[in-house]
Amino acid sequence: MKFKDIKYVRPNLDEIKEKYIESITKFKEASSFEGQDEVFTSLNEMRSEFDTMMNLVYIRHSTNTFDEFYDKEKDYLNEISPTIEKLFSDFIKVFLKSEFINDFKEKYGENLIDVYRLKNKIISDDVIELIAKENKLSSEYGKLMGTGMVEFDSKEMPLAFLIKYFKSLDRDVRREANEVHAAYFDKHSEEFDRIFDELVHTRHEIAKRLGYENFIQLGYDRLGRASYTHKEVAEYREKIIKYVVPEAVKLLDKKREMLELDTLYNYDAVITFKDGDPKPVGGEEYLVKEAKKMYEDMSSETGELMNALIDGEYFDLSARKGKAPGGYCTFIEGAKMPFIYSNFNGTQGDVDVLTHEFGHSFQTYMSMNIEPMDIRFPGYEAAEIHSMSMEYLAYPYMKSFFGDDYKKSYYSHMAFNILFLPYGACVDEFQHRVYEEPNMTPAERKALWTDLEKKYTPALKYEDTSLMNKGIRWIWQSHIFHNPFYYIDYTLAEVVAMQVYKRDLEDHKYAWDSYIKMCKVGGKYAFEDIVKIGGFNSPFEGDTLKETISFIVDRLENIEV
Ligand code: ZN
Repeated sequence: MKFKDIKYVRPNLDEIKEKYIESITKFKEASSFEGQDEVFTSLNEMRSEFDTMMNLVYIRHSTNTFDEFYDKEKDYLNEISPTIEKLFSDFIKVFLKSEFINDFKEKYGENLIDVYRLKNKIISDDVIELIAKENKLSSEYGKLMGTGMVEFDSKEMPLAFLIKYFKSLDRDVRREANEVHAAYFDKHSEEFDRIFDELVHTRHEIAKRLGYENFIQLGYDRLGRASYTHKEVAEYREKIIKYVVPEAVKLLDKKREMLELDTLYNYDAVITFKDGDPKPVGGEEYLVKEAKKMYEDMSSETGELMNALIDGEYFDLSARKGKAPGGYCTFIEGAKMPFIYSNFNGTQGDVDVLTHEFGHSFQTYMSMNIEPMDIRFPGYEAAEIHSMSMEYLAYPYMKSFFGDDYKKSYYSHMAFNILFLPYGACVDEFQHRVYEEPNMTPAERKALWTDLEKKYTPALKYEDTSLMNKGIRWIWQSHIFHNPFYYIDYTLAEVVAMQVYKRDLEDHKYAWDSYIKMCKVGGKYAFEDIVKIGGFNSPFEGDTLKETISFIVDRLENIEV
C-alpha cells in the first residue's frame, strides 16, 4: 500500500470508551490466562488502529501545515488523547492485579510488566489537572519559540532561520547571528523565566501528590527507566568530566588552529573547516538514488526496507513552504511501515537524515511483529543506538554522498560527537539540580548554568560583552521544557554507537550481526540488556567510556583532512 492511499477515519471516542469498559469487565471475569489474553489482544488491536490514525494525522499535518482538515483532526485527537490514556491506565491497573500475571510475564517478557508498572505509577486522578497545566506550559514555551521573529541582515525572519547563519564562513555574520539569537531570549527572559518556574513547581507538585520525594524519580519513571537510577547517571557524568572533557578541550584548541584564530569563541565552535563543512554532491533525487545503492549493498534487509520506502512513498524529505520544521521517523501500525520526514537543505545534515532516520526506521521494521505495541520500540536511550550506529555503519559509503570531501565528513561527525557528550551531561546535571531544589529563583538557575558550563565546557568561551554570559544557553534546549531528563539519552546511545563503529572496523560481519540483534528485540528489554544482547558494554560500566573515547579520539587524530 502506498502512503497516500492509507485512509484516515476519525476515531470515535464513545466507541473507544465502550471498548475499554467492556475489556476491563471481561478481563476481570475471565477465569483463565487464555481468556484474559484474548481480551488483552483484542484491546490492543483497537489501540493499534487508534495509533495508526494519530500518526497519519501527525504526518499529514507536518507535511502541509496549511491543510485545514488535518489541522482540525490534530486538535481533536489532542483533545481526546488524555481521556484515552486514562482509560488505558485503568485497564493496566486491572491487568497488573491479574492472578495470571506470571503467565503474561512468560508470554510477553518481564519488561512489559515493568513498562506497565511505571505507566501506572506516573498517573492518578489527583494529578490529571496538573498534567494538563504542565502540557499547557510546555505549549506556551513552544509558541514563544515558534512565533519568535528577529531582525537580521536587514530582514525580519523567524528565530529558527537564524540558525543557518550560525555556520556562516564569515565570522562577523556568525557572531552577529549568535548575539541576535541570544538577544531574543534576553528580551523575553521574564516570560521564559515564568514558564520554566511554573513548570518546575507544577512538576514538583505532581511528584509530591504521586508520593515521590521530588520530580527526579518521576521524570525517570516517565521515561520508562526501570534498570538504572539517578545514581548511575551521576557517576556516568563524573566519568564524562574525567575522560571526555579534557579531550573536548584539546579538540577545541585543534579547531582554533585549523580555523587560524587567536581565540576560539562559542560562535566559532560549530565550524570545523576554514573552507566550510563538506556538502552533499547532489540534491534529493541523487541522494535517494545513492542511499538505495548503499542499503542494497549493506544487507538484504536494509535493501528490502529502502525499496519498500521508495515504492510506497513513505518519506517526505525536502524543505518546502508549509512543512513543519525538523525531522523524525515514525511507524504506521496499520501499514506496518515506517515513515521518514525531514527538511533537506543542501547541507551535511541531509545525509545524516538518510543514515540516522533510516536507522530508526530499520529498527521499527525489524521489530514490527512484536506484540503488544508497548514493547515493540525501546526507550529513547536504546532507540538512539539504532540510528546513531547506522551513521557509523554507513561510513564506507560516504564517498558517493560527499565526493572527495568524504573524509572531512568523518572528521566533523566524530568531532561533533566528542564535543556533544560534555554538553549533554551539562544539560542533565542542570535538570537534576533544578528539580532537587525547586525553590531556586530564576536568577539562581542562570548562575547555576554558568557554573556548570565552567565544569563541563570550560573551553567554550564567550566574548566579554556577549549576552551569553547571562547563563541563558539552556533556554533554547527545548528538551528541558518539553521532555525533562531525556537529553542524556543521546549521549548514552552515542557511547554504544561508537562501540559498534569500533567493532565494524575489526570485524564487519560480527558488528552487523550484533546490530541486527539489537534492532530485532525492539523494546522487549531494558537499555542495558539490549546493549548486552549486542555484546557491547553499558556506558555506566567500568572503563567503557574511557576506552570508547580513547578509540574515537585516536580515529579522529588519524584522519587526513
Ligand atoms: Zn534519533
